[in-house]
Amino acid sequence: MVIGIDLGTTFSLAAFMNNGKPEIIPNAEGERLTPSVVAFAEGGRQLIGNLARTQAVANPERTIASIKRHMGTDYEVEVDGRKFSPQEISSLILRKIKEDAQDYLGEKIEKAVITVPAYFNDNQRQATMEAGALAGLEVMRIINEPTAASLAYGLHKQDLHYILIWDLGGGTFDVSVLELGNGVFEVKAVGGNTHLGGDDWDERLMDYLAQEFEKLHGVDVTKDRMALQRLKEASEKAKKELSTKIFAEIRIPFLWQEEDLRLTLSREQFEELTRDLLEKMIEPTKQVLSDAKFTPTQIDRMVLVGGSTRMPAVQHLARQLLGKESYKDINPDEVVALGAAIQANILIGEIKDVVLLDVTPLSLGIEIEGGIFAKIIKRNTTVPTSCGQIFTTAKDNQTQVDIHVLQGERLLSSDNINLGKFELTDIPPGRRGEAQIEVTFHIDANGILQVSALDLHTDNEKSIQISSSYRLSKDEINKMLEDARIHAKEDQKRKEEIQIGIRAESMIHAAQLVLEEDEGLMDKLDVNKIEKLILAIKTTLYKGGYEDTRARIDELSKLVEVVYNAYKCKKRNLEMETKDAAYKRI
Ligand code: ADP
Ligand code: MG
Repeated sequence: MVIGIDLGTTFSLAAFMNNGKPEIIPNAEGERLTPSVVAFAEGGRQLIGNLARTQAVANPERTIASIKRHMGTDYEVEVDGRKFSPQEISSLILRKIKEDAQDYLGEKIEKAVITVPAYFNDNQRQATMEAGALAGLEVMRIINEPTAASLAYGLHKQDLHYILIWDLGGGTFDVSVLELGNGVFEVKAVGGNTHLGGDDWDERLMDYLAQEFEKLHGVDVTKDRMALQRLKEASEKAKKELSTKIFAEIRIPFLWQEEDLRLTLSREQFEELTRDLLEKMIEPTKQVLSDAKFTPTQIDRMVLVGGSTRMPAVQHLARQLLGKESYKDINPDEVVALGAAIQANILIGEIKDVVLLDVTPLSLGIEIEGGIFAKIIKRNTTVPTSCGQIFTTAKDNQTQVDIHVLQGERLLSSDNINLGKFELTDIPPGRRGEAQIEVTFHIDANGILQVSALDLHTDNEKSIQISSSYRLSKDEINKMLEDARIHAKEDQKRKEEIQIGIRAESMIHAAQLVLEEDEGLMDKLDVNKIEKLILAIKTTLYKGGYEDTRARIDELSKLVEVVYNAYKCKKRNLEMETKDAAYKRI
């Protein structure tokens, strides 16, 4: 059995395919959502989920929430002298999800698809995979949350082009634009606000309730931890109620000594209190649209994801900004997990849809002689992919090569983006051009890039995993493409100049090797001509006239060939003569 997991900042959940339909798996407490909270109680006991969330106020030092914000960093949590990495904490949440699912389904679960925000970089994705592995799961694939949501809506089967996704969760607001073509989802732009979410709405209401209470009873209850926790719970409850009702009754008995908190709040009042929070969603949305160079009318569909998009004000704003109704048939806090379950079943071949999930936005390659960029994987290649090319050494007795990995569309590596570097050493000394170094680029389905260099003569191999993010925003990608277009002509000229230089240098080298073999068998005039040509090439190279250089290289190449053939012929004849002489002696 395979499952899909939405490992969220505030809530996590899992889904499976039941008779061809994705379905949420309730946890051991019977809830569909598990709070992404881990706590260490007395005696080192671990609490995960709702229990951990509830006792948070009483045990703040040993309660860990929102660990997702630290994934892929070297942040550590220290509890009772023990240190935990973000992936270890996340693995505790994943383990509960996995075990609860096993109990519910009565089957062992080994494989899963886990979702991450579209903007997660390699480190963050790798940390998520590690968390899965620590929880005893084989992570078949890491997929983007907006892509999962689109899959759950079956958008890959429709004739759509551009989808805008709003994901307003507990603590983050993510905006993405996806392009859909031939079953491939491509992330065109991402943006949002990593510090805006349902928690802010709760807090605003909490502050209001505390103020109202203080007006009546003259005490600031927020100083008291227990009271604070009760205020917080009541606020979230009221907020949720106001998503379906026009009024909410808030009642907290004995909030302060004998005093209850009693209040009726209208949806209108609540929306008034939180208007500025809602307005914070406008700017990032406009930014993402302009990054992707879209107007709202070009968007075919809008999908609402995240529990907080249940708020009517958020849905109203979506309608206002895009001028159309958004998709909300599926529970917004469940849609990502459902999509992940679909993807998991596509991967094991249970669902026969062809869904390709990602393409490389820019070309990837290495720097070669003269600072030229050699592309190994071309842009817009569908991942996973693997591609190799054989390279050789540029100098005699070169025993090491630097593999400098870059991405971009420019012809010279210095104009492209540096991704990482490594050395392959211990190449057996020899003539330049003799070594055979196979450089292979491999991008796995999670978008993680691995580059290896293999010396085909010695089987010596080195590789790196590109740990820095090579994912760029749509803006950066567009700029790269635009620059490549603008500079195409001059780049080509510079590249040709460099290549002429390299050719000249290697032609001179070859000519000198031939001259060294002379042994007095070459025509003095020819030798002289060759030497003059070499000097002429060096001069034009230095002065920069590369058309002239090219002509002289061609001339030199022809001359060297003629001289060398004549030399070989003479030498052969000479050998024959000595052989003949020897024969005569017998
Ligand atoms: P995550 O940030 O982990 O992706 P979710 O998408 O599950 O989390 O969103 C959690 C947030 O959604 C919480 O702030 C919660 O209060 C809010 N939420 C859930 N249901 C509702 C509702 N009916 N009305 C308003 N907000 C809701
Ligand atoms: Mg989420």
